[in-house]
Amino acid sequence: MEGGGGSGAAGPSPSQSPPPSPSPPEDRECCAGLWELPVERCERRPECGRCSRPQKVCLCPFLPIHPLKVSTCLYIIQHPAEESRVLRTVPLLAACLPPDKCKILIGRRFSEDRYPELATVCRNPSTLILYPGAEATNLEEVTLGSSSPPVMIIIDGTWSQAKDIFYKNSLFRLPKQVQLKTNISSQYVIRTQPTNTCLSTLECAAVALTIMEKNKNIQETILRPLQALCSFQLQHGAQIHHSKEHLLKNGLYDKPMPKNKRKLRRMELLVNNVQPRQLGPTW
Ligand SMILES: [Zn+2]
Repeated sequence: MEGGGGSGAAGPSPSQSPPPSPSPPEDRECCAGLWELPVERCERRPECGRCSRPQKVCLCPFLPIHPLKVSTCLYIIQHPAEESRVLRTVPLLAACLPPDKCKILIGRRFSEDRYPELATVCRNPSTLILYPGAEATNLEEVTLGSSSPPVMIIIDGTWSQAKDIFYKNSLFRLPKQVQLKTNISSQYVIRTQPTNTCLSTLECAAVALTIMEKNKNIQETILRPLQALCSFQLQHGAQIHHSKEHLLKNGLYDKPMPKNKRKLRRMELLVNNVQPRQLGPTW
């Protein structure tokens, strides 16, 4: 996201930056100065109702026309910090799926008392939770029961947030723990930088659903808006990269190349896989 924080430039909130007080002579009323507050400038940019992106960079053209038909139900356990991130990918995931197949729960602690439905889901022996580790089984090797529609729980957050949620909620130790084989996800899942793992939940969900539904089109469809998003970011980041390269070439830049070079490369890989939406309805 380096250089891509356009949405974050909304400016400080009024409470943080009181406007210069012109103190007009008629400043008799206590609220007179409030009129000077830069309210308009602090408003959020209008968001698209479907993809939750700012309207100017709406990704709806990259979303499937109709929600994907899946039998798997996803429960996205979202750390509260994720909800407020500038770059949110879970809304894109949700927009690709029917509402009853993608349920988002926000919080850090999930007790049985407060989340009885989730507790029931966790106690169902066919429910899976995606969390890598020594005790996790590769999803490809899991035999899915045919008695009930499969359910998968995915934790949305940075590595440390996900770890905290997984280990401090006993409910999440009940489902079968699964992971994705790295050779499947390495091209897509950007996980090496914990502070910028904003893309991983959508990517994990795309790969997991493809395996569980045995339908490769799912991965392609869910990743399409992400590829568009990366393309946008790459264009944004590439300009910065270029200018540093220019400085390097001209001997004006003596620092190491930007740390996000590898990430840019990964994004390039992702973007190179962009395939335009097929003409005509395929769903
Ligand atoms: Zn949109």
